[in-house]
Amino acid sequence: MQQVRSRFGELRPPLRGPEEAAFEAERCLYCGDVYAKAPCTVACPADIDVPGFIRAIAEDDRDSAADIIFAENPVGGSCARVCPTQELCEGACVLNHDGDRPVSIARLQRYATDSRLMHGRAEGEAPAAIGGKVAVIGAGPSGLACASVLRSLGLSVTVFDARTAVGGLVRYAIAPYRLWASPLDEEAQQLVARGVEFQLGRAIDGPEALKALESEYDAIYLGVGLGEDTMLDLPGKNLPGVHAALPWIEALKAGEMPPLGERVAVIGGGNTAIDVAREAMRLGAREVTMLYRRTQAEMPAYGFEVEEAAEEGVRFLWLTIPVSYVGKGHVEGVTCRYARLSEPDESGRRRPEEVPGTDFVFPCDTVITALGQNPRKTFLGWIEGLELRGGRIAVDPTTGQTGNPKYYAGGDAVNGGATAVEAVREAKRAALAIARRLEEVRA
Ligand code: SF4
Repeated sequence: MQQVRSRFGELRPPLRGPEEAAFEAERCLYCGDVYAKAPCTVACPADIDVPGFIRAIAEDDRDSAADIIFAENPVGGSCARVCPTQELCEGACVLNHDGDRPVSIARLQRYATDSRLMHGRAEGEAPAAIGGKVAVIGAGPSGLACASVLRSLGLSVTVFDARTAVGGLVRYAIAPYRLWASPLDEEAQQLVARGVEFQLGRAIDGPEALKALESEYDAIYLGVGLGEDTMLDLPGKNLPGVHAALPWIEALKAGEMPPLGERVAVIGGGNTAIDVAREAMRLGAREVTMLYRRTQAEMPAYGFEVEEAAEEGVRFLWLTIPVSYVGKGHVEGVTCRYARLSEPDESGRRRPEEVPGTDFVFPCDTVITALGQNPRKTFLGWIEGLELRGGRIAVDPTTGQTGNPKYYAGGDAVNGGATAVEAVREAKRAALAIARRLEEVRA
């Protein structure tokens, strides 16, 4: 199958080779020698020893650099491609203080991890099993990180996923301009080499299947993410030309040209909405406009990405609430109503209120809605004692334990949809708590 490639190429290209890597690594001031922890490491949700791996690269020891990265983040190669580093490690780099550009931490991380994943090396011994079996449901970043830590601690781990490949949203839902392919399979292979078992293509599709896991495993980690896209229940929602963001991106990742006209309206204000808009521009749409019901200040998308999208030609209609889709046989426009902002809601952002009498039709031939995803209520409803708060799994924030003591959770199903590396952080915390609990049971 032919792949549809972005005409702008990769957003974060790899370093060109050892010389460029050494040059970039030598820009680092190794703040870890001065501070208890370097600011870049403090800003890394996975707690990677950034100056440690940069120093290893400077000493031309890529293998040690990869060890340092993968010790904290088993999907460190994928995160090197998708992390919003401007907001994390690179945003915290002290070189910013003097107006200099930060060390290119993500590209160095990719340099080190690619070297390991592409060329491999003799694997060490898998950690000896100490007793205790854990099932991990979901093979996204959260599930993989949880499995990695548990296995390091000597527990037996089996990862289940309904899909036949690992990676979750990182594989299927990150727009190709940002990430065409990531080394997820190679990263999972490293876990297999350490003794993690995978059961891919195995859906836990009913209460009986879940009960079977409960009786076979000592603990269960839920890295199940979220479900289908949230769709606006508007008149005309079934018109051809109205699409949900995730299947649209997934089609693209599968090598198909997704449905796209000349005038595209993207509904939403989060990072996925930005991804879809920027991807549509790259695929050749003549005009891409984001419709958002609040203003730029309230957008959940990262500010720098909004600016980059605008530079690429994406337009924005703020304070705009879609009220219906119009068209004969195909979408031809979105009827919108202007909004004004009132008091803050539970999210802390000011609530948009419709302004009567301000309806207008925004003409377009493609609508893509990117409004987040729904929680997996049916699946989660099968778990006794598990509580949802605002559609998210309620957990003890220090352990990730749910209302059912056998279950722990992390990632999007808990945080409502954040970055892959935040999912890694939550998974690591839960894995340590699971190991502690099973040790208490064994004692
Ligand atoms: S903050 Fe920047 S200069 Fe300091 S250790 Fe981290 S990458 Fe190096």
